[in-house]
Amino acid sequence: MKILIVGGGGREHALAWKCAQSPRVDRVFAAPGNAGTAQEPNVCNIDIAADDTEALLEFAAREDIDLTIIGPEGPLVAGIVDRFTAAGRACFGPTRAAARLEGSKAFTKEFLQRHRIPTAASAAFTAATFDPDYIRAQRLPVVVKADGLAAGKGVIICATHEAAITAAQDMLGGSFGAAGCTVVIEEFLSGEEVSFIVMVSDQSVLPLATSQDHKRRDDGDQGPNTGGMGAYSPAPLVTPELRARIMREVIEPTVRGLRADGTPYTGFLYAGLMIAADGTPNVLEFNCRLGDPETQPILMRLQSDLIDLCEAALAGAGALDRVEARWDSRAALGVVMAAGGYPDAYRKGDVIAGLDAAARMPGKVFHAGTRTGAGGGAGHLPTVVTAGGRVLCAVGMGDTIAAAQAQAYDLVQTIHWNLVQYRRDIGYRAIA
Ligand code: AMP
Repeated sequence: MKILIVGGGGREHALAWKCAQSPRVDRVFAAPGNAGTAQEPNVCNIDIAADDTEALLEFAAREDIDLTIIGPEGPLVAGIVDRFTAAGRACFGPTRAAARLEGSKAFTKEFLQRHRIPTAASAAFTAATFDPDYIRAQRLPVVVKADGLAAGKGVIICATHEAAITAAQDMLGGSFGAAGCTVVIEEFLSGEEVSFIVMVSDQSVLPLATSQDHKRRDDGDQGPNTGGMGAYSPAPLVTPELRARIMREVIEPTVRGLRADGTPYTGFLYAGLMIAADGTPNVLEFNCRLGDPETQPILMRLQSDLIDLCEAALAGAGALDRVEARWDSRAALGVVMAAGGYPDAYRKGDVIAGLDAAARMPGKVFHAGTRTGAGGGAGHLPTVVTAGGRVLCAVGMGDTIAAAQAQAYDLVQTIHWNLVQYRRDIGYRAIA
């Protein structure tokens, strides 16, 4: 089989690495991939951008690709699965209509309310309907969200009414481009944040191993929000009881609702949840794809063939109910190594040292924002330079989360570049 992975981040490196291990797979292509996928056995990078649907489809037809897996949300929300399916090419992910669960927060809030799925109270406004008095009537803090895709930056938690009004006016005035043409004003929820990721095939659901990520840049979950600074699996917070409750109160009504609304879902579905003190799993957001960096530790633990699972989901008619996902009982923990300055403007082009040595150690270093530089030599891997905000994710495994953490930080300490930054405490809540 030939597999095409669309995307070039850490999640896509993990997907390509996992697919390449399948005995059924001859070749994996990553479009555009990164320096990590370029070095992976049986994986080949293709210089096509993840959002260039027509070029991807043309490549898939020319190479006769058997299965395409879409990593990032952008192409999904733009309708890449509809385009591939219409051309008769198997493509794993939700259709454009179903991907609106991530593409529009206003759509999702209306969906959640209509299907009685727990979520924070909210209202949506455009520039024409915006009413500052609505914000003044809300309890503080209050949350202001851009409706559309904003790369994890479209959520502002405001301590005062005036700050919230300004934030909403800025979004409506174009500070987030088209993503902010509609804003959602939302009640602030407190509790423990959990991500819950499943594979969906219409009404069939296969939950993946539990995981938890760290969104803030600095130790102790302080500092600015990022795309994610580390993650681990399993998440001890998600007990079997909580998992059953999330399935019953969130996942099952969501897939039923999507079907009832005429937009059945196939693909990975990621629910970002705030677990209230009474255990209620409130939906903060849906993502229509795997999380990054959660994917890296999750796929390190997946023993089943991912291709079999995707094919079962695409076959429909309950085939996903008849397959099982087997998991390594060990824990996996990934530490993101980021470029100096991230999540604001960051450095690029710094040479990364220590990857050769790390490759000989236990665990696995997944690349994200990297590209192959000049040089290399006999017995050495080519030079790799930084090319993005989140650069690497070093994943360790162990019988406990603490042991996995120790192995991940051994990798981190072997790798270095100018002004590298990473958190020293990934997994601290689970270890405590
Ligand atoms: P979202 O993209 O909607 O998941 O929001 C990004 C982050 O903002 C979440 O991971 C939460 O940490 C935080 N957040 C979003 N909505 C709320 C809310 N209603 N109450 C408290 N925190 C929130």
